[in-house]
Parts: sequence; structure tokens; C-alpha cells
Amino acid sequence: MRRVSGLLAVFLFLAAPALADARLELSGDMTQGGLAIGHAVPGAKASLDGMMLDVDRDGTFAMGFDRDHERRATLRVVYPDGTVEERVLTIAEREWQIQRVEGVPRKYVSPPADAMAAIARGTKLKADARKTRAEGSWFTEGFIWPVTGPISGVFGSQRYYNGEPRRPHYGVDVAAPTGTPIRAPASGVVTLADADMYFEGGLVFLDHGQGVTTLIMHMSRIDVKTGDMVKQGDVIGAVGGTGRATGPHLHWGMYWRGAYLDPQLLVGPMPENGG
Ligand SMILES: [Zn+2]
Repeated sequence: MRRVSGLLAVFLFLAAPALADARLELSGDMTQGGLAIGHAVPGAKASLDGMMLDVDRDGTFAMGFDRDHERRATLRVVYPDGTVEERVLTIAEREWQIQRVEGVPRKYVSPPADAMAAIARGTKLKADARKTRAEGSWFTEGFIWPVTGPISGVFGSQRYYNGEPRRPHYGVDVAAPTGTPIRAPASGVVTLADADMYFEGGLVFLDHGQGVTTLIMHMSRIDVKTGDMVKQGDVIGAVGGTGRATGPHLHWGMYWRGAYLDPQLLVGPMPENGG
């Protein structure tokens, strides 16, 4: 009898995490470049790989996984009653394309010495914008395409500019004529709006809450300013080919805190016939 009850105790111990599951629901993409959303309970605290997460009043939180995230991530949730739940998440690995971009003006591949001040100015603007995270959870409302049209570049590709290796392509490109209106893919707060970035050209950052941020580049026109609150579908500017671009297109990138995310995992398929 003793042995049986011992086995029963082991069984109950193993089953315990399953009982705690009812208080934690995860959705989204547990994959490189993916955004996952956690729903715990009001008052819960959560951390991912030791980094404290923003958890909203309802217990909802965002978790992003970089293009190069390792296969495992550890999520730790502390409930208001002090119970701790730890989950090891398996992050699916992806394969990346190689993209060769030719005809890039030399000043963008090997910037001249007199461009350094402009580049440094941009680096500082971006770093400042990343210091704050908007209080909100608009990322839970889902995403729409800012512009519709043929997809001309995908997230994660290893890029070569005029044959020289550069960092991966952290976004999705959509070919569209200059002047095409760009819509906010989800509601959020504008954390950066600058018409004159060296590489990005006209650039807007839009924080959809908890730091889940859209970057729109190469814009010919910007209709918003830092601090504006925009709703999903609002026109925030227009497509262009400013900065390091070989033609007019939308570049839509996303990041969450330190991680670059793939917008295509968050938005539905491109509407047919360009919407
Ligand atoms: Zn791009």
C-alpha cells in the first residue's frame, strides 16, 4: 500500500502544472520573429528569460522572439497568491532567404565621412524612442496591411548590397507607387516621426503597447508627429523611396524591446488584387 500511495503522490506532483494551466493562456507564434500573447490573471507578474514583462490590468502581456532567438525560452509567472509557474517554451527555428540588392547608391553602402553626423543623429533619435514603452495593449486587436500590393521582400533575409553582406532584412516590403497612403496596422502611439533619416528616409515608429512597435520607412510624406495617438486604419503618411531604397515601396518592420519581429506572422495574407 505504501508503494501505491507513493506512486499516487508522484502522479499528483506531475499533474500539478496542468492544474495551474487554467490561469495562464498563451496564443500567437512561438517561433523566431514571432509575437506571442500571454493571458494570466489580474495582478500577475511575468518574466521571460529573466526580463520583467509589462503586464496590463487584465493580466495580458506580450512576448517577442528575435529572428535569432535560441530554441528555448523560459516564462515565469507569479500569481497574486504567490504561486509561481514556470514554463519552458520551444521556439521554432526558421530558414532564411538570401536577397541580393543591386544598384544601391554608394553613399548608402559605404557612407562617406561627412555622413557620420547625420547617421549619429538618427541613431540617437531611434535609441531615445526605444527608451519608453506605451501603456496599452492595442497589439491584441490584430493587424492589417498598411499598404496592399506585391510583396517584394520578406523578413529575415540575409542581405547583400551591391555584393557586400549587410545585416538581415528586418521587415516586409510591399511595392507601391510614391504617394500611396499608408495606414496604421494597429492602434498605437507615435514614438518617432522624422522625415530625414539617413538610411530610413521618412521614418515613423508606432508603439502598439508594451513596446510592440511598428517601423515604417522610406516615406515620402509623414502625417503624424511624436506623441500622437492613432487608430488602426488611420493614414499616417505616404509611400516613397527616401533613404536607402532602390525604388518606392513600403518597408514595414516590427520590434518588441530587443527583438525584431516578422510582421507577416501577425497580419493575414495579402488581399488579392492588391486589395
Ligand atoms: Zn525593406
